[in-house]
Amino acid sequence: MFRLSPLFLLAILLCACSEKEITHADLPAYTLVIHGGAGALLRTDMSPALDSQYRVKLNEALDVGEAILANGGSALDAVTETIRIMEDSPLFNAGKGAVFASDGTNQMDASIMEGKTMEAGAVGGVQHVKNPILAARAVMEKSDHVLLTGEGADQFAVEVGLDTAGAEYFFTQRRWEGLIKAQKNDNPSSDIIAPHANQDRKFGTVGAVALDQSGNLAAGTSTGGMTNKKWNRLGDSPIIGAGTYADNRSCAVSCTGHGEYFIRYAVAHELSSRMRHIPGDLDQMATQLLHEELFPAGGTGGLIALDRKGNISMPFTTEGMYRGYTKPGERKVAIYLEE
Ligand code: ASP
Repeated sequence: MFRLSPLFLLAILLCACSEKEITHADLPAYTLVIHGGAGALLRTDMSPALDSQYRVKLNEALDVGEAILANGGSALDAVTETIRIMEDSPLFNAGKGAVFASDGTNQMDASIMEGKTMEAGAVGGVQHVKNPILAARAVMEKSDHVLLTGEGADQFAVEVGLDTAGAEYFFTQRRWEGLIKAQKNDNPSSDIIAPHANQDRKFGTVGAVALDQSGNLAAGTSTGGMTNKKWNRLGDSPIIGAGTYADNRSCAVSCTGHGEYFIRYAVAHELSSRMRHIPGDLDQMATQLLHEELFPAGGTGGLIALDRKGNISMPFTTEGMYRGYTKPGERKVAIYLEE
C-alpha cells in the first residue's frame, strides 16, 4: 500500500481550503459592469448634449440589466439584454450604430460566454441580424458550434427566428462620414503594423460582464469592428479568449480596443487565467496587463472585468472609455479618464 507524505496531505488541505474561500455569504447580491468602447474621448471634444445622451443610454442599459439581476435572473440574461439596449442605439459601434467596412457594408461581430458552464457562442461578419449578441447566444444554445461567420451566420440567425434588417437600418450619417474620413486619411494596412496607430480612433464597441445572485458570471461583447476594415477582417470581439471570457473560477472579461493586439495577447483569457492561478487583486492585474504589456507592444484599448466577489476593474490606455457599473446601493457611469 502506498503512503501519502504529510506534505502532500497538507497541500491537498490547503487547496481544499482555498477552493472554499468564496462562500455564498461573501458574494454581493449582484453586480453588472458595462463598457461602450474606449478611444480618444476628450471632454473638450464632446458637446454637453452628446455627453448627456451617452450617460442616459449607459444608465438605461444598466437599468435593464439590473432589473434582471435584482429579480434573481441569470448573469447570462443580464449581459444579453444590457448589450441589446446598446446595440439598438446609434450611439455605439454595435448593431444599429455599427461602423462601415471599406466596401460600405456593416460587418458585425459578437460573442457571449457563461462562467458556470464555460459554454460560449459567437458570430463574425454578420450583416443582417439586428442584434448580433442574440445570434451569438443562439450559436451557444441552439447549435453544436462556438463561432459562425458571414452569410452562414446570418442564415443561422434567420433559421432560429431572430429579427433581421436591411442595410438602411444600419445606416447612420455619423458612421458614414467616419468611413469617408478614414478613406481620405488612411492607408488601412498601416493601422495593423504601426504601434498605437489607432490611438486617435473612437472604438465604440459595447460589452457587459455580470454576477448574478447564484454567484454565476457571464461576459459578452458586440461590435461593428473597425471603420474601413477590409478583407473580412475580424477583431477580438467574436474571439472567445481574446475579446470575451467568463469562468466562475476566476472572472468575467469584455475588451475593447485595437483588436489585433487583444487577439495576439489573448487578453480576456490571459486575465482570467492569471486570476485563477496567481493570487492577486483583479484591478491591479487587469491594469498591469493593459498598461505594462499591451500598450508598450503598441495596443490601445480597455476592458471591464468582474470576479465572484463583485470586485470590478475598468482600466483603459486611451483618453476615455464609456463605462459604468451597478450593484445594490451603488451606481457609476463615466466617460473620461479623470472621472
Ligand atoms: N475591438 C474591436 C475590434 O478590433 C474594436 C473596438 O473595440 O471598438 O474589432
